[in-house]
Amino acid sequence: MASEDEINLLVIVVDVNPIWWGQQAQRDPQFTLSKCMDAVMVMGNAHMAMARTNKLAVIASHCQGSHFLYPSKSWSGEDGGGNDVSSSGDGKYELLSAANNLIVEEIRNIMSKIEVTGNSTDTLLAGSLAKALCFGQEIKSRILVVKAAEDCALQYMNFMNVIFAAQKQNILIDACVLDSDSGLLQQACDITGGLYMKIPQKVALAQYLLWVFLPDSEQRSQLVLPPPAHVDYRAACFCHRNLIEIGYVCSVCLSIFCNFSPICTTCEKNNKSNIKTN
Ligand SMILES: [Zn+2]
Ligand SMILES: [Zn+2]
Repeated sequence: MASEDEINLLVIVVDVNPIWWGQQAQRDPQFTLSKCMDAVMVMGNAHMAMARTNKLAVIASHCQGSHFLYPSKSWSGEDGGGNDVSSSGDGKYELLSAANNLIVEEIRNIMSKIEVTGNSTDTLLAGSLAKALCFGQEIKSRILVVKAAEDCALQYMNFMNVIFAAQKQNILIDACVLDSDSGLLQQACDITGGLYMKIPQKVALAQYLLWVFLPDSEQRSQLVLPPPAHVDYRAACFCHRNLIEIGYVCSVCLSIFCNFSPICTTCEKNNKSNIKTN
């Protein structure tokens, strides 16, 4: 067991892609973004309630950027400050109640401000993960991604760089996937020692979060968790960002291409060999 004074930070990155959630609300009115946020708050509250030294951050990831829901600019911190947190009067633990209110308020704010334009429909997950990594620097932390929309191969390079940075800092990345499998997150979890799970029933999100993702890595060794997922290790070519199984690799800079071309577009050297990329 970890020492009692050690800070344990959990950063939850939630994919709030408005297009995906808009379609989801039509497919299945039982499970909307607000239901998802409820489940995320249950998980966040449970984490903060487990130990006094447990800390929480929640980041919303959408198609124009990523945004801290908690702690946010309007949050004055745990030292009291200007936040009127004691007025709830319903016996709820004030810190949790204040955090929940803030998250609800911030998400409303963001969702009303996002403008969906034709060419930016992908969730900018790599950027959100980078923010999560920076926030968790120098303290014991882990990241949980609640993923909704499909992977975006355009972010392959940024994503892999973030994953290796997390691995270097010993930060574990977990992924709770709501819809289509994510090859990028499978690799992220596999490389950092986290848990990847595509949940069978979306409406039961809170249950999966509490049973599978709330325990930290030390507690997990004592649990029987779902078996590890198959990892899709295909790489994206640098020329079109398509996922490929066999490609051409520059023997100088290791850039991957789907077509042979005599000069590498990355490093401009002209020796190239054909290898399988996975
Ligand atoms: Zn290509
Ligand atoms: Zn090259």
